[in-house]
Amino acid sequence: MILDLFRLDGKVAMVTGPGTGLGQAIAIGLAEAGADIVGVYRESFQETQQAVEVLGRRFLPIQADLSQTTPGDLQGLVDRAVTEMGHLDILVNNAGIIRRTPALEFSEADWDEVMQVNLKSAFFLAQAAARHFVSRTDIPEGRSRGKIINIASMLSFQGGILVASYTASKSGLAGITRLLANEWAPHGINVNAIAPGYMATRNTEPLRRDPQRNPAILARIPAGRWGEPEDLKGAAVFLASEASNYMHGAIVPVDGGWLAR
Ligand code: NAD
Repeated sequence: MILDLFRLDGKVAMVTGPGTGLGQAIAIGLAEAGADIVGVYRESFQETQQAVEVLGRRFLPIQADLSQTTPGDLQGLVDRAVTEMGHLDILVNNAGIIRRTPALEFSEADWDEVMQVNLKSAFFLAQAAARHFVSRTDIPEGRSRGKIINIASMLSFQGGILVASYTASKSGLAGITRLLANEWAPHGINVNAIAPGYMATRNTEPLRRDPQRNPAILARIPAGRWGEPEDLKGAAVFLASEASNYMHGAIVPVDGGWLAR
C-alpha cells in the first residue's frame, strides 16, 4: 500500500548538522517515519538526540568539523556509522554555512570555508556513503540501495546578492546532485536535493532582522510567511523513502512559491 512505502522502519539515516534549524527538523522527521539517526555534528546534538530517542529510535552522535575533514575522514564517518548501526541507507547533506560580504571585498578565507563545508565535504561524504550502498548484498531486487538528499537553496537557481561563495557552493551542489544521479541511478541509488526557500533559522537571522530585506523578502513569498524547519519534513521523508525510487537528480523546491513568482 502506498503509505507503507513512505515508512522508514529499519533504515538508518546520517544527517549532517542535526543540532539546529533544518537539519534538526529533518532528523526528527526521518525518525518520526521510523529511521534511526546518525548525527554528524560540530557543536550540538543533545536536543535532537532526546527528540529522536523519545520516538523509540536510536541516535548515534559523531563529532566532525566539516571545514577540516579530508575524504579519508569522511569515509571514516560512514565506516563508523555502519559498524555501530549495522548499515546505512540514507545520507542527508545538510550542514552548511554562509558568509555575507560584497563581491568586491570577498576574502579567500570566506570563499574556501564555505566551499569546503557546503560542497567538497558534501561530495566526499556522498562518495563514502555510495561506496557502502554499492557494496551491500542484502537489498532485494526493486528496492533502493541508498538515498542521498542534498540540501540546496534558492541560490542553486538564482544569483543572490553578497553571498558569492554560498551561491557558488549551492549552484555546484545542484550540479553535483545531477551528476551523481546520472552515475549512480544504474546502481539503484537515488540522489536528489531539496531547495528550501527562505526559512526561519540561524542562517537567515541577519535577513530577518534587516528592516529593508525582511519585508522585501516576505512580500515576494506567495505563501506570505517565512518557512519553518518543519515544512521540510514531508519532502525529506519522501526523498528518503521507497516512495521516491524513480526520482533521480531532482532539485525539489520547498519555498512557499518563491520560484513560481
Ligand atoms: P543552521 O546554521 O541552523 O544550521 C547549519 C548546520 O550546519 C548547523 O547544525 C551547524 O552545526 C552545521 N555546520 C556548520 N558548519 C559546520 C562544520 N564546519 N562542521 C560540521 N557541521 C557544521 O542553518 P540552517 O538554515 O538550518 O541550514 C541548514 C542547511 O540549509 C544549510 O546547508 C543551509 O545552507 C541550507 N539552507 C537554509 C536556508 C534557510 O533559509 N535557512 C535556505 C536554503 C538552504
